[in-house]
Amino acid sequence: MGIVPTFDPNFKPTRVNIPQTNLPRIVIVGGGFAGLNLARSLRGKSVQVVLIDKHNYHTFQPLLYQVATAGLEPDSIAYPFRKIFKHQKRFYFRMGEVESIDSASRTVHTSIGDLSYDYLVLATGSRTNFFGMNEVERHAMSMKEIPEALDIRSLMLQNFEAALLSDQLNERDGLMSVIIVGGGPTGTELAGALAELKRHILPKDYPDLDVRRMSINVVEAAPRVLAAMSEDASKEALEFLENMGVDVWLDKRVKSFDGHQAVCHDGTVIQGNTLIWAAGVQGNPVLGIPEEHIVAGQRVTVDAFGRFGEREFAIGDVANLVNEDWPKGHPMLAQVAIQQGKLLAQNLERYIAGKDMKPFSYRDLGSMATVGRNKAVVDLPRFRFQGAGAWFIWMFIHVIQLIGFRNKLVVTLNWMYNYFRYARDIRLIIRPYRKSVEDEEFVDVTSR
Ligand SMILES: Cc1cc2nc3c(=O)[nH]c(=O)nc-3n(C[C@H](O)[C@H](O)[C@H](O)COP(=O)(O)OP(=O)(O)OC[C@H]3O[C@@H](n4cnc5c(N)ncnc54)[C@H](O)[C@@H]3O)c2cc1C
Repeated sequence: MGIVPTFDPNFKPTRVNIPQTNLPRIVIVGGGFAGLNLARSLRGKSVQVVLIDKHNYHTFQPLLYQVATAGLEPDSIAYPFRKIFKHQKRFYFRMGEVESIDSASRTVHTSIGDLSYDYLVLATGSRTNFFGMNEVERHAMSMKEIPEALDIRSLMLQNFEAALLSDQLNERDGLMSVIIVGGGPTGTELAGALAELKRHILPKDYPDLDVRRMSINVVEAAPRVLAAMSEDASKEALEFLENMGVDVWLDKRVKSFDGHQAVCHDGTVIQGNTLIWAAGVQGNPVLGIPEEHIVAGQRVTVDAFGRFGEREFAIGDVANLVNEDWPKGHPMLAQVAIQQGKLLAQNLERYIAGKDMKPFSYRDLGSMATVGRNKAVVDLPRFRFQGAGAWFIWMFIHVIQLIGFRNKLVVTLNWMYNYFRYARDIRLIIRPYRKSVEDEEFVDVTSR
């Protein structure tokens, strides 16, 4: 007897089935920090909420680098939407990808059919920006989603396994070495975590390799790392990185990478087979948004309330909200997305009731980055501090922001275990990463 398929991947319904209601329907596209906080804040309000996301879980992006460096399991930084909203009435989640919007007919076109809305909120976040450098994009790894972080973990471990098989010194060095482009928080944190792997874990795992020859490089176009933070934070982070053996290349822009070496605009050549791109993101809009609303960086220009149409709104990374304080738009940060999501819930209620909406005003709560064990930098509006105290604050803030008690507990226990045992036990190549470089075919790792 043949196997009866339970799911036909080619089946595409014509419309998304959501119960009819007399209440206004708010369709939220994307359950990142912005969409999630909006949907949660709409709890108890007289509206129907439909959240559409291409994944069935929320991702806590600030800890992706720990998944990529075998510090945390992917499950501990993700949380299923159905669990988050299980008690929220008049809330519907559908897993699907929104392809385009049609504001004239108030419809979103998705991979699971069409859906009409009364109010639409685009919260689709951002995607990696390679600034048109196709060759770099083809060979580089990016780190925006959990599958990508797992690919980085697999690739680095696969390269170490491959290095064991090589009798060429140059080849072994290249396989072990990593180039991180971008010295912002992501690049700095990633480099620090890799330096700890190099120091405490890899020499024991690979005694047959001279792991001291592994080079970890951070290439930054600005004259300092953590350029968005204070000078003190940059200085301290640079010192931390250099003491941990990371090669930091400042004032340099990578212009090409062929899978073995990166070449900078001034001719500097940096060797390494793994290049991780942490040098920039751009907005991630869908089709159908009037062209005049899309600005450089692919963000959607919105007014002070997040509106780009009569009933269309955008929040979070994808939104370009310009005001006196932020003439170039707000930074693409979790706090901006969270605050915009929460305010829009209040504003939608007011808008529907015919009342005036409140303009968005960002409250900067500060920024922080960790470089490794007992090493972090924290810039708060009134205080700045670095070192072990900053590291504990960094951990505390990240744990409380995670969604779900299980995740908070698992991450705390993992960090305690890793701290006392100098451990990174998730060094698993569960789903080997394959780059199709020979035939020059670009593999979109996120589509797997
Ligand atoms: C590696 C990394 C580290 C970071 N570290 C920090 C940090 O330390 N501090 C900080 O403040 N910020 C940090 N950020 C930035 C922060 O994560 C973003 O600013 C924040 O996630 C933006 O929230 P958002 O809701 O706009 O978008 P996202 O969180 O990106 O969410 C977008 C959602 O939309 C979904 N989606 C996208 N397109 C579609 C579609 N067409 N159809 C359906 N669903 C779709 C996605 O699946 C996703 O769930 C980091 C980002 C990265 C990548």
